[in-house]
Amino acid sequence: MSGDGETNYDRRTVLSAMGSLCLGGAANLSAISSASAQTVAAVPSPPMPHLTRAHNIVTVNAVQTSRPSVALTFDDGPHPTHTPRLLDILARYDVKATFYVIGTMVRRYPEILHRIVAEGHEVGNHTWAHPTLSRLGNQSFLREIDRTQEIVWRTVGALPVTMRPPYGAITRRQSQMLHDQRNMPTIVWSVDPEDWRRPGSSVVAARMVRGARPGSIILAHDIHGPTVRAIPAAIEGIASQGLRFSTMSELLGWGQWGPRGLRYVRSTNLADDWQG
Ligand SMILES: [Zn+2]
Repeated sequence: MSGDGETNYDRRTVLSAMGSLCLGGAANLSAISSASAQTVAAVPSPPMPHLTRAHNIVTVNAVQTSRPSVALTFDDGPHPTHTPRLLDILARYDVKATFYVIGTMVRRYPEILHRIVAEGHEVGNHTWAHPTLSRLGNQSFLREIDRTQEIVWRTVGALPVTMRPPYGAITRRQSQMLHDQRNMPTIVWSVDPEDWRRPGSSVVAARMVRGARPGSIILAHDIHGPTVRAIPAAIEGIASQGLRFSTMSELLGWGQWGPRGLRYVRSTNLADDWQG
């Protein structure tokens, strides 16, 4: 176990609520045909680097930390209307969050990903097409991850450093492979308001507030209007407990994520480290 410093990781790999999450996201996706491919306005960027930072973190449900911080995470976007509204709210409270984006949604709404990054939020990998990863073979599994890494890199010139599996469905072996071959931890959650069941904004906010404690990873979806409307009350309630908001990288103790945070990565050309 890691015992250095104040940050440790809960490496439990037994995932609760397996198979029940993000159903709304999957439904939404089905309405977006694969024929919607368009040319992404790529920013000038060097060749896509590989993540090489050795971290020994395989699966994380929550971070054991003495810092009074939680990570707000939003899955399944970017969404054309709900994500911008959420960004407005986060800006008003000066709260930074982590967006676990779907590759096909990034392809469709690259300008919203630009805004997410420009406003200081972190982007994580939520696969290319939101499949149940635990049913995929190795090649298909890694392709889901790699295609999303590539489109995020091409779109904003920064690379996700963590992955969240759709529905929380991933095998222990796959998480280990993701760690060993892509240097990415699998990030699940410790607080689940079950917002995809649409219990109403006040219930979503109350569940987030009730579950929050230092090191919590809070799951939500920026594809549901009621979830977005719950966020002001959730932020205020969590902050009233003395808790602050960190991005996933910050909660892990890795510092700020972003185009300037690429000290964790190395160019595909091993002789050519690129520091963003
Ligand atoms: Zn999802």
